[in-house]
Amino acid sequence: EAYLSAIEAANDALNAYVAVTPDKARDMAKASDERLAKGEGGTLEGVPLGIKDLFATEGVHSQAGSHILDGFLPRYESTVTANLWADGAVMLGKLNMDEFAMGSSNETSYYGPVVSPWRAKGSNTDLVPGGSSGGSAAAVAANLCAGATATDTGGSIRQPAAFTGTVGIKPTYGRCSRWGIVAFASSLDQAGPIARTVKDAAIMLKSMASVDAKDSTSVDIAVPDYPAAIGESVKGLKIGVPKEYRVEGMPEEIEKLWQQGIDWYRDAGAEIVEVSLPHTKYALPAYYIVAPAEASSNLARYDGVRYGLRVDGDDIIGMYEKTRAAGFGREVKRRIMIGTYVLSAGYYDAYYLRAQKVRTLIKRDFEDVFAAGVDAILTPATPSAAFGIADQEMNSDPVKMYLNDVFTVTVNMAGLPGISVPAGLDTKGLPLGLQLIGRPFDEATLFKAGQVIE
Ligand code: GLN
Repeated sequence: EAYLSAIEAANDALNAYVAVTPDKARDMAKASDERLAKGEGGTLEGVPLGIKDLFATEGVHSQAGSHILDGFLPRYESTVTANLWADGAVMLGKLNMDEFAMGSSNETSYYGPVVSPWRAKGSNTDLVPGGSSGGSAAAVAANLCAGATATDTGGSIRQPAAFTGTVGIKPTYGRCSRWGIVAFASSLDQAGPIARTVKDAAIMLKSMASVDAKDSTSVDIAVPDYPAAIGESVKGLKIGVPKEYRVEGMPEEIEKLWQQGIDWYRDAGAEIVEVSLPHTKYALPAYYIVAPAEASSNLARYDGVRYGLRVDGDDIIGMYEKTRAAGFGREVKRRIMIGTYVLSAGYYDAYYLRAQKVRTLIKRDFEDVFAAGVDAILTPATPSAAFGIADQEMNSDPVKMYLNDVFTVTVNMAGLPGISVPAGLDTKGLPLGLQLIGRPFDEATLFKAGQVIE
């Protein structure tokens, strides 16, 4: 009830929830109370969560921030949300996001931008919460849920977490089932939690993760007791600091924060080593070929026949065209055009195939560093703090927005786990995050080490 009232009071201003489900929340909470009264119950019994609109929730608003899914009510539940409900969690509603998870500021949503609960000192300018999981991050930061689900294809969990002073982890590719999550770029997408503390994120991920016969890319590997890693010492842990992440034009504050993080680890008894990830600079351009290519293919299914919106035309082709023209927003159309171009005959080898080769090189860079004994890699999470809504510079050129993903996309390209932990405030009083990148399926080390920053 407290969360429902908080949503009622704050959501008009923040626009974090696109649908609130009070009846469902009360029913689930009641069932949870009954289980607890019988001495039963899971690890998330009665914990009220917000769900990113990208997750299919049975009979509940699931539109991926898009107009083209108007009125779509799934007849099935995503595996990740089903896992959460099986452990007793309670759904408060669905959270705003960039359309089809394409964006870094939550401004591409059909439902309008999410407003961050944060303000710069002495300013009243509305700031973005980051994206694409902007609703998830804002809702957690503003206390409109105890935790939220999110997804990350190129940074969409970690960047909004960094912008809002929350914790976000993208687990290893294959750790969570993608079944029932609207596909953006299938070889990069992963679900994960956004939470207030590293421990909360550990508890949530433990529940969300599972192998799943319905997703052949989910991996059959035991899910460790992540919360048990909380409080363990980092003495002797080897933390790598990659020199290639000192990108040109990086603000001094980010540089300072990174150094502060290094000092914290040294003080906690970890060993700091400089490492090299030589192909880092190719990650962003390669990502913006692979992700749109896969997206253009995944989005072909929205044709006015199977889901949501339909705009009639003179014939079936006319109907497809009118539906897609009216249903997709600008950024989604841009991605479909780029993706279709790089996959087309004659360009496939030059763009898509080449990007996939670059991806292998990026992955090998990480493998070499981990083979040399490094346990986790420390980098800034983002190249800046949150910017303003409708910021002229960020919106003047799509590439400016894409550059915000420079520290996060490498992790998706290599399929590795990455966590963003709030590390302090900039001179304007806005949150900044540090990122830790781990070995495949070693999220436990990220939780353990993440606590040092927190
Ligand atoms: N900002 C990136 C993009 O627009 C990443 C999005 C994501 O991780 N879903 O593609």
